[in-house]
Amino acid sequence: MTTETLEFQVEARQLLQLMIHSVYSNKDVFLRELVSNASDALDKLRLEKLRDDSLDADVSDLHIEIDVDKDARTLTVRDNGIGMSYDEVGQLIGTIANSGTATFLKELREAQDAADAEGLIGQFGVGFYSGFMVADEVTLVTRRAGESQGTRWTSRGESTYTLEKVDDAPQGTSVTLHLKPADPENQLHDYTSPWTIKQIVKRYSDFITWPIRMVPEKGDSEDAPEPETLNSMKALWARSRDEVSDDEYHELYKHISHDWREPLETIRLQAEGTFEYQALLFVPSHAPHDLFTRDFKRGVQLYVKRVFIMDDCEALLPPYLRFVKGVVDAQDLSLNVSREILQQDRHIRMMQRRLTKKVLSTIKEIKTKDADRYATFWREFGTVLKEGLVTDSENRDAILAVASFATTHAEDEPTTLAQYVERMKDGQDDIYYITGESRQSIENSPHMEAFRDKGIEVLLLTDAVDEVWVDAVGEYEGKKLRSVAKGEIDLDGEKDEKAEGEREKQAEDYAGLLGWMREQLEEDIKEVRLSSRLTVSPACVVSDAHDLTPALENMYRAMGQEVPRTKRILELNPGHPLVKNLNQAYKEREDRSGLVESAELLHTLAVLAEGGQPKDPARFVKLVADRLERTL
Ligand code: ADP
Repeated sequence: MTTETLEFQVEARQLLQLMIHSVYSNKDVFLRELVSNASDALDKLRLEKLRDDSLDADVSDLHIEIDVDKDARTLTVRDNGIGMSYDEVGQLIGTIANSGTATFLKELREAQDAADAEGLIGQFGVGFYSGFMVADEVTLVTRRAGESQGTRWTSRGESTYTLEKVDDAPQGTSVTLHLKPADPENQLHDYTSPWTIKQIVKRYSDFITWPIRMVPEKGDSEDAPEPETLNSMKALWARSRDEVSDDEYHELYKHISHDWREPLETIRLQAEGTFEYQALLFVPSHAPHDLFTRDFKRGVQLYVKRVFIMDDCEALLPPYLRFVKGVVDAQDLSLNVSREILQQDRHIRMMQRRLTKKVLSTIKEIKTKDADRYATFWREFGTVLKEGLVTDSENRDAILAVASFATTHAEDEPTTLAQYVERMKDGQDDIYYITGESRQSIENSPHMEAFRDKGIEVLLLTDAVDEVWVDAVGEYEGKKLRSVAKGEIDLDGEKDEKAEGEREKQAEDYAGLLGWMREQLEEDIKEVRLSSRLTVSPACVVSDAHDLTPALENMYRAMGQEVPRTKRILELNPGHPLVKNLNQAYKEREDRSGLVESAELLHTLAVLAEGGQPKDPARFVKLVADRLERTL
C-alpha cells in the first residue's frame, strides 16, 4: 500500500501547535470531544440507513468503545458509525472548514497571555485536534459505511499527516491516542487508568444516547472480561428537573453547541396532550462570531422518540431567536420527516409559537430576577432580538418588555421603554429617539441641541435594525416613537402668544432667504425652514416624518434594492450670527451670486454635523480653504 504524506492547511497547523503546547488547563475535555464526534457519527449512520435501506451497513449494535492499554500507553475511542472515505479524511481532518476558526486564530495571536488564550479556546472548541493536548501521536482508522476500503490517518501534530488505504478496517472510526509520558505528579489525569476514564465519561458524556463501553483490564483469569457500559444514556430532556444537575445540563449544551463555556440559561419545556414533545433549550452566554453572517447555522436539534433526526432544525424557532441552542424531542412525527415537511407542518408551527413564548418569558424572568445576567444577555443578543420587533408582531409586546436602549438619561445604564415613559416630562407626548452610527456621533448631533437644552430624554439607537423597528412599532403605550431628526419639532408645549408673534415676525424677515436658498440647493433639498431644534449650530438637515432616513436608504441600496434619493429639509437657526448675517447680506445685495457658495457651505456643514458625507468632498475642501485664505 502506498502512503501519502500531506501538509496540514495553515490554520490547522496553527491550531495543532496550540494543542501541542497546550495552554488549556482542563485537558480531560479531549475525551468529551472524541466521544461527541463518535456519537454524531452513529447518529448519521442511523439516519442514512433509515433514508436508504439498501445501504450496506451494520446497524444492529451501534455503540462507542473505549480501550486503554497501560503498557503501550494508548487510548482508543472507537465507533461503528458512518466513518469517512479516503477523501473525506483529508478534507475533514486535514483542514478547518469552520469560518469562525480563522477569526479565532487571529484573536489568539493577539491574545496577551495564557489566560486570554485559554478563554479563547474555551470559546471555540477545537474538536478532534484536542487529542493532541494529551497525545504526541494520533492514529485514526476509518471506513465509510457501505464502502469496502478503509483509510489510516496518522500525525504527530507537526506540519504533516499521512494517509494510507487499508483493507481490513471495520466499519466506523477508531481514534488511537499515543499518550504523552505519564506525569507522576498528576495521577488524577492518568488516561490509561480505567477509573479516570470512567469519571470523565460520567462527567461529560453521560447523556450520550449511545452506549459507551469499556473493556476492563484483564484479570488473572483467562476469560475475556465483559465490557461495561459507562453512561446512563438517559435523555436529559425526558428526565425531571430534580434528577438532573446543572453540570449535566451544561455538558449537554457543550456537546450540542460546540461552545466550551457554560450557557447563560437552561430552559425546559414538557408539552403533554395530543402532540407531545419535550424541549431542552439553552441561551448561550456569548454571541457566536458568525451570528450575523448569511451561513450561520441556526436552529435546534430535532429528535423523534429519542432518535436523532437533524441538526439545525430551523422550523422550531424564528430567525430572531437563532442564538438559542438545544434539543426538541417530538413523540408523533415520522422518523422520515424532512425539512420541507417541517416548514409546513401545523404541529410544528404550534411548537414554534409555544417555544418562542417560553424563551421570551424566560428572558423576562432573567430580567426581573438578575440584573447582571440580563445585562449580559442584552449585550450579546439584544441586536438579534430586536429583529423580532419587525418580523413577529404577535410577540412584539413581549420583546419590547425585555428590550433596553441606550439613553441620554444615563451614561452606561440602558433604559426600558416603560422606564422612559415614567420619566417623561409634563406635557411631553412622545418618546424621542435618534439613530446613527455610534453613541458619540449622535449624542453631539445638532438635532439634539434643543432636547439637551430642555432636559428632554432621547433614546440613542445605534444598531442597523433600530432604523427599521422604530417604524414598524410606531408607538408604545399610546406614546408615539419620534425621531429627533424627522419632521417638525415643537418642544414649547403650551403656545405663548408673545413667542408666537415673535416667530411670525421672524418668518416674514427670513421668507426671502429661505425661498432663495431652496432654489440654490434644489438638487438635494426640498424645503428650507427655520428651526426650533437648534440652539448652538447654524443649521441641520432633517427628514420628513415619513421619509426614509439616509441610513435606511443606504441599507436598501446595499441589499441591491433601487430606492429614489430622498430630498431632505434644511433647517436654519435664526439665532446664529452666521445665519443672521447671511440674511442681512441677502436683503442688502442686488447681485447674490457671491452668496451661492455660502448657501452651499452651510448645507454641507449641516450634513457633516449629523455624520454624513459631503457630496463632493474635494469641492467642499476647496471652498473652505478659499474662505480661510481670505480671512488670514
Ligand atoms: P467538529 O466536530 O467541530 O466538526 P472536528 O475537528 O472534531 O470538528 O471534526 C471534523 C469533522 O470530522 C467532523 O465534522 C466529522 O465530519 C468528521 N469526524 C470526526 N470524527 C469522526 C468520527 N468518529 N466519525 C466520522 N466522522 C468524524
